[in-house]
Amino acid sequence: MAADGAVLGSFERIGILGAGTMGAGIAQVVAEAGIEAVLHDPIPGAYERAQQRIAGFLARKVDKGQLDEAGAADAMGRLSSAPSLDELAAVDLLVEAIPEDLDLKRDVFQRLDAVAPPATILATNTSSLSIARIASATQHPRRVVGMHFFNPVPLMALVEVVTGPHTASQVAEATIFAARRLGKTPVLATDTPGFIVNRVARPFYLESMRILGDGVASVEQVDAAARDVGFRMGPFELVDIIGADISFSVSQSLHEAFFFDPRYRPHLVQRMLVDAGRLGRKSGGGFYDYGADGARGAPWTGLAQRPAGPQAEHLTEEQIAARILATIVNEAASAVAEGVAAPEAIDTAMRLGANYPSGPLEWGERIGLVRVVRTLDALHAAVPDGRYRVVPLLRSLAEGNGSFFARQG
Ligand code: NAD
Repeated sequence: MAADGAVLGSFERIGILGAGTMGAGIAQVVAEAGIEAVLHDPIPGAYERAQQRIAGFLARKVDKGQLDEAGAADAMGRLSSAPSLDELAAVDLLVEAIPEDLDLKRDVFQRLDAVAPPATILATNTSSLSIARIASATQHPRRVVGMHFFNPVPLMALVEVVTGPHTASQVAEATIFAARRLGKTPVLATDTPGFIVNRVARPFYLESMRILGDGVASVEQVDAAARDVGFRMGPFELVDIIGADISFSVSQSLHEAFFFDPRYRPHLVQRMLVDAGRLGRKSGGGFYDYGADGARGAPWTGLAQRPAGPQAEHLTEEQIAARILATIVNEAASAVAEGVAAPEAIDTAMRLGANYPSGPLEWGERIGLVRVVRTLDALHAAVPDGRYRVVPLLRSLAEGNGSFFARQG
């Protein structure tokens, strides 16, 4: 069977399809790990731009004393461009990093499958598409796997290795091995919407927007509450960096992928920002205004809180953080319950892929699962549309004084 023969440790050449933001980052870590990186991108000049970006990145590492000149030159010498798919294919591992378009990816995987030797692993860096739908375009879906790097690749330690229903276990193992060779920390996840990080991080944004939309706290109060419990940035400052359009489209695609489960329902505030062209720093302003020097100013006046009803009391910072954390812990618990990943993998993924100060499951246990459940039950009583329903696993662990980690025999 194709790819079952992939020998652990045989990675000498890695092919990368697409020389954009992610492709260039992946090529850099491959070359820095002492492995030949062969790139293919049909757009004229794309390879040269990737080369320049990598050279710039390596030069900064040299300036900071993290790499010597000879190391940077060696890494650059391991980069090459393949003029066609055929010439790219003779590698041990192929990582696809072309635009996030299912039809485009299926077409490319079908062609790669036809030209790549049987033992070549075909990996996709998709953030949101189903691995099964990409793999099913090939004759050999057992050799197709998700290899989800995070941006910027040279700085982000996490790789989600995503197994579709067809992926051979040897292929998953070899991909984990390859990620480690690149100096990354791989976590294994199953082929479910958002994998680990994009799914478990959703409530950080959505619950914050619900709090804002309910008129019970301001943009600055929510951001301050999140920072005070250890998040590196508040949700609104972070959306201003990611881009409100990107954030809204991830929310919409997860909501749809989960058959419109209210837990993932996007918020009108997201649409309002996108409609108003308030996309974040890249458009000069989002939740906040920004000065010409990039300094953060006041929250956008368009977000002025709606007059709160007499019953809508302002939340304390502690209450804001409790709501955000409880919904994140609930989401992480749902990912455990649905077999997306092991509890340890989920915690590692959120620390390394989303810069959380602590894994959400461990964090929930520190807060106390009983308290987390109490917070969710109170929210559910007020808004009983299902978005705050407690995941049965979380409730039973809370009631039985159990631990997510003890389940792992
Ligand atoms: P990008 O637009 O920067 O780069 C895509 C590159 O693919 C371009 O250089 C383009 O010329 C090239 N390309 C287009 N069609 C091609 C083809 N048929 N064959 C080879 N190359 C082709 O996009 P990106 O941000 O690097 O994203 C690439 C993938 O990585 C997407 O699936 C995206 O969802 C995923 N991803 C992106 C991020 C991120 O933050 N940017 C993070 C994780 C995963």
